[in-house]
Amino acid sequence: AVPVTVVSAIGAASRFGLVIKSGAAFEEFGAVRHVAFDKTGTLTQGSPCVGRVLTASTVDGGSMEDSVRTSDAASTTDPASTTSTASTADARPAGVSEQQVVDAAAALERGSNHPLATAIVAAATNAPGATDVTELPGRGIRGRVQGHEITVGSPRWLAPGARAAGVEQLETDGMTVVLVHRDGQPLGAIGIRDELRPEAAETIRALGEQRIGVTMLTGDNERTAQALARQAGIDDVRAGLRPEQKASAVSELSRRTPTAMIGDGINDAPALSAASLGIAMGARGGQGSAGGSDVAIESADVAFTGSDLRLLPGAFAFTRRGRRIMN
Ligand code: ADP
Ligand code: MG
Repeated sequence: AVPVTVVSAIGAASRFGLVIKSGAAFEEFGAVRHVAFDKTGTLTQGSPCVGRVLTASTVDGGSMEDSVRTSDAASTTDPASTTSTASTADARPAGVSEQQVVDAAAALERGSNHPLATAIVAAATNAPGATDVTELPGRGIRGRVQGHEITVGSPRWLAPGARAAGVEQLETDGMTVVLVHRDGQPLGAIGIRDELRPEAAETIRALGEQRIGVTMLTGDNERTAQALARQAGIDDVRAGLRPEQKASAVSELSRRTPTAMIGDGINDAPALSAASLGIAMGARGGQGSAGGSDVAIESADVAFTGSDLRLLPGAFAFTRRGRRIMN
């Protein structure tokens, strides 16, 4: 049985936007000395937008300036605006526009609730139907679109070892890049911008003041991760992690010191289970935010339903005091 004091303390935690699932989780909350943050949808707003689109002929950086387009163009509903690069030399496959790259990807992403998927669908103007759609957490998504096999996902998954100047430039600018392949051939690349939550840096600073260490874990690439970590004030960044690698990073941290993992996605579920304390982003956040996935919430000890990360440092201090009083 859970003691009455723990029950009332758990009730009090709701003012920090926390749904603590057990007395043991409350105890663990107050013991936390390190926090591992997922990047996408946790430290970032999780309402990303398509920033730039490259077609296959420009992914290597060759004639990028001619064909790079902004999200203004990508999100317009004017079909005429999608044809300006149809004349790009040596396009492979020929004549593919940025908008067609987005539409092909959106055909698959309509079935996903990944934040990147939401951005791609929002930028689509005319996405065809898709069949046989399979999502691979932490990698991407594939399926059949108009008789073609389309694959959308991380460069690391779709083009391991390849270094394309156009892709690297988008990443250095802080965008996450997903490649779009058609029948195994590059069709294009989509650069997606996801801003840091406005309170992220202040939250990291407040944790530091409590001497709680911070790590960023992400399936995203090193270059994009470093750009955002710098803005957030996080020094320890582990990028390019598949879901099971996030879990082993968290296990390792948790063996060393009581560690909370905070994540939102289906890809974070193994890491949430592996942590001393798993905290799932549980609610729909701000406008356009995808909110936490059900799988993440089930795998966690605590659901965070607040939309402001600054509630967390307060909650660690509160549960630490609560723990001292009860013990
Ligand atoms: P994070 O750890 O930052 O939350 P994920 O582990 O969910 O990111 O995804 C890692 C990478 O896998 C993404 O940056 C993206 O390149 C790719 N990816 C995952 N899911 C999808 C999807 N539905 N569509 C396209 N790319 C995806
Ligand atoms: Mg995430």
